[in-house]
This record gives sequence, structure tokens and C-alpha cells, in this order.
Amino acid sequence: MVRLILFLLAVIPVPLTAAPPVILIDPGHGGTEVAGSLKERSNSSPNNATTPGGLKEKDLTLEFSLILREEILKEATKQGRTLGVMLTRETDVNLDFISRAKICNRSDTACVVSIHFNATDGAKTSGSLAVIAAKDRNPDYEIDKAFALGLVTACSKGVREYLPGSKDMGTIHDSHLHGGLGSNFFFQLQRQPHLRGKPKCFLEIEFIDNPAVEKALLGGDRAAKFRTIAASIAAYLVAATEEEAR
Ligand SMILES: [Zn+2]
Repeated sequence: MVRLILFLLAVIPVPLTAAPPVILIDPGHGGTEVAGSLKERSNSSPNNATTPGGLKEKDLTLEFSLILREEILKEATKQGRTLGVMLTRETDVNLDFISRAKICNRSDTACVVSIHFNATDGAKTSGSLAVIAAKDRNPDYEIDKAFALGLVTACSKGVREYLPGSKDMGTIHDSHLHGGLGSNFFFQLQRQPHLRGKPKCFLEIEFIDNPAVEKALLGGDRAAKFRTIAASIAAYLVAATEEEAR
């Protein structure tokens, strides 16, 4: 019996180190068509917000996410950390929310951040905010809220370099979406077994229908501006991921 146990121990591969955590970044929207269906609660719109000058949210989310990935990896290297970053899309395509949620559903996922830009009817608002799944249907509500509040503050710090009046608007619930049902993305993420207890939120970087926001944040050397904001977010994400791995 002892011999058998020793044999079993010898052949079971024991990983020397745990897999490094992976930060999942979802660039919101994409492509030209609605992906998914209302029935399955998987529909993702190709684009929502547009600037007065015609820039589309779907292009800005991808542009920002690609820079954010670089900044997270740079920050991790600086801190001597090993972690991965994965994007749900890297080109101008729209994926339905089942596909996006499945990409995020990894045992090594540390958190899921969906990148968006906002718009209002008045076009006068300026601020950053995060959307989290409402408390009554979110078993990870406290986790999501704590994570999202820190994320918005980090984002807002970067945005205020170019828009000093931009507000840290904290978090809001997703109850305003789909007649109170909430976000389809949260609905699909919550069905993925590996994502229980993992922080998830939408980050709405700024209100891009506001002409002042378009001029200050999206005009000129936009990539450099996005890099400043992304670096601030990356510092927060790398630190938050470390706390979680302890
Ligand atoms: Zn959006």
C-alpha cells in the first residue's frame, strides 16, 4: 500500500508555481452589426456613443485597451511581477456577450474590466464612472464595488491631467439597462464558473458627446493622453491583482 501511494505521488505532476493571474480587458462594442440575441441576453451593440466630431466609442475602446495592455505589462515588469493580460477582441469586430464571457472564463482570471466611453442627452457632463451589477442579483457585489471604486479613482486621476474639472463619479448599478434586467454582459459573466468571486465592472472613461471632453481628451496626441490614463489604471490593477493573489 505504501509503495502504491509513493508511485502515485511520483507520477502526479505537481506544478512548481501557480499560473500567473490574468487581467481580462474587454474593449466594448465593435464591428458594424449587433452580435448575439435579445432572447439569449447575449446582444452587444456595435457602437453606442459618438463624439460631435464623429469619433466612435467602439474605436476608442479598442485603441485604449491596446495601450492599457502595454501599460499593465510595463507596470508588472517594473514591480517584478508576473501576470498576463488578455483582450476579448483585438480588431474591429463585435462579439456577443456569450463569446466575451467565455473568453473571460479562465481559472487564472484575476478580474474583468470592460472599457467604454459614455454619453448623455445634455452633452455637458464630464466624469469617469464604473458600472457594477446591482446588489439584488450580484453575489459578488461587495467585491465588485470595492474594486470598481478604486479603478474609477485611478482612471479619474489620469483624466484630470487633461480635464481638471472631470469628476470621479464612483460606481452606479446596472439597473437602468434593459428595463431593469441589467447588463447582458454581467448576466453572461455570472454564468461562468471560474468568475465567481472575481471582480467585474464596466469602466466608462469619459462622456465623449461633450465637445469640451472631445477637444481636451481626444484631440491632439490622443495616444499619449490615453497612455497617461492607462498608466494610472495599470498601477491600480497590478496592485489590486497582487492583493488578490496573496
Ligand atoms: Zn459602451
